[in-house]
Amino acid sequence: MAITRRGALRASLVGGVGAAVTAAAAAPAWSASVSSSVQGDARQALRLLKEGNKRWRRYASRHPNEGPARRAEMVQGQSPFAVILGCADSRVPPELVFDRGLGDLFTIRSAGQVLDESVLGSISYAAEHLEVPLIVVMGHASCGAVSAAVEAHRTGEVPHGHVGYLVEKILPVVESTPGGGDDFVDACVRANAGYIADQLRVDADLRERVDSGSLTIVPARYDLASSEVVWL
Ligand SMILES: [Zn+2]
Repeated sequence: MAITRRGALRASLVGGVGAAVTAAAAAPAWSASVSSSVQGDARQALRLLKEGNKRWRRYASRHPNEGPARRAEMVQGQSPFAVILGCADSRVPPELVFDRGLGDLFTIRSAGQVLDESVLGSISYAAEHLEVPLIVVMGHASCGAVSAAVEAHRTGEVPHGHVGYLVEKILPVVESTPGGGDDFVDACVRANAGYIADQLRVDADLRERVDSGSLTIVPARYDLASSEVVWL
């Protein structure tokens, strides 16, 4: 059985695989009961993420969509409801932070969420071929990549090798971020997430979907201490 993206999103809303099959079978009724605009899909997706993060914050994670039925269902194909572009940092795994399971999130991670052709290609695939309605660019507190860029800005010395590539990509954000006090790294974390979201919104592959409202891109910051994702 082919599960449509709308069916899968509905399944995620009600939870569980049985629900996925039911929702797909009853797709017309469900479609009539919710907004048919794709913008609506992004709102629903955002709501799922907010609910999942709330469970995570409260140590009440349900670990949805991990069981045998879901795994079998996913053999047929994937219909993730959100792209999460996050940092590679081991403390910010999207599936845990948003309490989601198999097939829910199309996750791309690079240190500092730095964009390169591989990252952009992955995002374009999710937007164009999987028709994912929402992209979240998620920075986080105490990001090592952003801290390294701040350090390079202060000292004028960029690290050698591949880490230097990351720093060079983040440096323009650091240089255009006002401040310099104790919270400067965090100001740069927020600015970096916003900057990357802005870049994606005008990307040649994505712009049309953004302009038509079928794709929403939002920056966010994950707080390590509170476990909360704050939407910027
Ligand atoms: Zn980081």
